[in-house]
Amino acid sequence: MNFNKVLDNVTIYEAGKPIELVVREYGIDPKNIIKLASNENPYGTSPKVTSKIKEIAGNMFVYPDDSMYELKEALANKFEVDESNIIVGSGSDQILEFCVHAKCDSNSKILMSKTTFAMYEIYGKQTGSKIIKTKDDEHNLEQFSNLYKEHGADIIFLCLPNNPLGECLDKDDVYAFLETIDKDTLVVVDGAYQEYASFKDEKKKINAKELISTFPNCIYLGTFSKAYALGGMRVGYGIANEDIIKTLYKLRAPFNITTLTLAAAIEALKDEEFVTSCIAKNFEEMKRYEDYAQKKGFDYIDSYTNFITLKFGDLFSSKEVAQNLLEQGVIVRDLTGYGVNAIRITIGSNEQNTKVFKVLDEVLEKLK
Ligand SMILES: *Cc1c(COP(=O)(O)O)cnc(C)c1O
Repeated sequence: MNFNKVLDNVTIYEAGKPIELVVREYGIDPKNIIKLASNENPYGTSPKVTSKIKEIAGNMFVYPDDSMYELKEALANKFEVDESNIIVGSGSDQILEFCVHAKCDSNSKILMSKTTFAMYEIYGKQTGSKIIKTKDDEHNLEQFSNLYKEHGADIIFLCLPNNPLGECLDKDDVYAFLETIDKDTLVVVDGAYQEYASFKDEKKKINAKELISTFPNCIYLGTFSKAYALGGMRVGYGIANEDIIKTLYKLRAPFNITTLTLAAAIEALKDEEFVTSCIAKNFEEMKRYEDYAQKKGFDYIDSYTNFITLKFGDLFSSKEVAQNLLEQGVIVRDLTGYGVNAIRITIGSNEQNTKVFKVLDEVLEKLK
C-alpha cells in the first residue's frame, strides 16, 4: 500500500524493554529483574497518589473534565502563570508532537543537538521537515548558533538537561543564545529533568514564567513521568504565551488525558516532599555510579538527571555490555544506536544499584 511519502524516512521509536519481555525471552523471575532503562522514578508513586487513584477507580464511565480545570489551576499556581499559558498532554511527548505539527511542514527546518531525545527527529520527519543537527554529542551553543545563522530554523529543540546524555547548559548561556533567535522561531525548552537539574545546581534552573515572558517565542515542557513518578499515567504539560497555547489546542483531541491521570497529577503536585526526597536520594546514589566508573577506569558524563551515561571508550562495546546485563535481568539503555559507545543507566534504589554493580562486575570481567 502507498502511504504518505514522508513516513519513508521515519524510524519507529524503540522504548526501553519492558520487564514482561525479559521474563519471556530469558526466563528470569520478574522479582529478579531490574529495569533501569526508561528513567522512571525507582521509589514508586507517592502513596497519597496511589490511594487517590484507588478512591476514584469506580468512576470511569464518565468522560474526564476536558477543561482540566483543577490540574491547570495547580500548575498555574506552581509556575505562577495564568491557566491560559498551559496545555496538558498525554505525556510531554504529545506536546512535542503538537509543537512540531503547529509549526512545520515539508519546507521547514528543525535544529537540535546531535545526541538528544529521539522523538524530536521522529516528529520532525513526520512533517517532512529537514533535520539539522550539531556536530558534538552534547549541547554546544556555538554550533547551534552557527547552524542557525547558516540555515535558520522553524523550531529549535533544547533539552535541558539532555536525554540520553545527562548534561545541562547554564541558564545564562541559554538566555544569551535566545537573545539572538528570531521571534518567529519556536524554541522548545524540554525540561523533563529540570527538577533534578535545579536541585543539583541553581545555575541550571529554568524558570518557566521568566522564560516565556523574556522570550515569547519559547515553550517550556514539563512531565510527570520522571521526578513525579507517574510514567504509567501519561501526563505532561507545556507552558507558553497564549497565542502559542491556543494554536497547540487546535491539534488536541478532546479528552486526551484520562480521569485517573488528572487526579493522579493533581495529587502528585500536593506531595512535593515526596518528589524532593526522591531527588535527594537520586544524587546520593548517583555518586556511587561515579565512584564505580572511576574505579573501573571508564568515563561518565556529569549528569543533572536521574540517569548516568557510562562511556566505554575502547575498553568495551556498550552493545555487548547492555546485552550481557539484560541476560542477567538488568535492563539498561545501549546508546550504540545514537552513535555513542555508552550505556545509559537510570539511577535505581540503593538495593537495585548494589545489585547492578555486582552484575556489572561479572559482565565486565567476562568481556575483558
Ligand atoms: C521522558 C522524556 C519526555 C517525555 O516523557 P512523557 O512520558 O511523554 O511525558 C520528554 N523529553 C525527554 C527528554 C524525556 O526524557
